[in-house]
Amino acid sequence: MDQKIPEIIADIKTYFEYLKGMGIDPLFASEGRSRKGFQSQGLTLEKVQRELGDCRRCKLHRTRHTIVFGEGNEKATLMFIGEGPGYDEDVQGRPFVGKAGQLLTKIIQSIRLEREEVYIANIIKCRPPQNRNPEPDEIQSCYPFLLKQIQAIQPKIICALGTFAAQTLLQTNAKITALRGRAFDLGGIKVFPTYHPAFLLRNPERKREVWEDVKQISEWMAKEDTGT
Ligand code: URA
Repeated sequence: MDQKIPEIIADIKTYFEYLKGMGIDPLFASEGRSRKGFQSQGLTLEKVQRELGDCRRCKLHRTRHTIVFGEGNEKATLMFIGEGPGYDEDVQGRPFVGKAGQLLTKIIQSIRLEREEVYIANIIKCRPPQNRNPEPDEIQSCYPFLLKQIQAIQPKIICALGTFAAQTLLQTNAKITALRGRAFDLGGIKVFPTYHPAFLLRNPERKREVWEDVKQISEWMAKEDTGT
């Protein structure tokens, strides 16, 4: 996957140029600093889903069973973004419903939230064959729809799950170990990268770091609520 990331980032930059050309201020990721980039422009999830339709924009449509659009609270303050659907998600048409999804549910509940209160989506919406990593052309076709979902939802915080989501959202090649535990700004939205739940299933000793990361998210949300 590592060789692919620079190519993916180049594609995303091209897309951002395209957005700028359309008068949409794209994302500027930075640590700490805040620049407003996401205005809803009257977008709703329904409109985004309608525009996506029975998507055949990339080759993944040939092997997928279901488009996994995303699910949750349209007005969520907190959004979780993973990599892409796996087997269970492809069958059910819902994000994070397999073993990794069950762990994600526990992670969400550990900060006294329910799945229905947050919004859960992925960088790509169709399962790659044999769960291989998404390819640049697939991301380029799909990522604009995730950005529109973010525009429609207007979350205050995004928790990027794993290397792929963090590197794509933040346009960086930095390792997840270097990114987690820190807050980044993406067009006025705080992005907190953490480990992917599937990684935690293989490396349960790393769970403590994820609990720390989501605790930081929870504290940040509490501060936002009280305006302190
Ligand atoms: N892994 C992901 O990144 N997303 C899902 O929806 C399921 C597993």
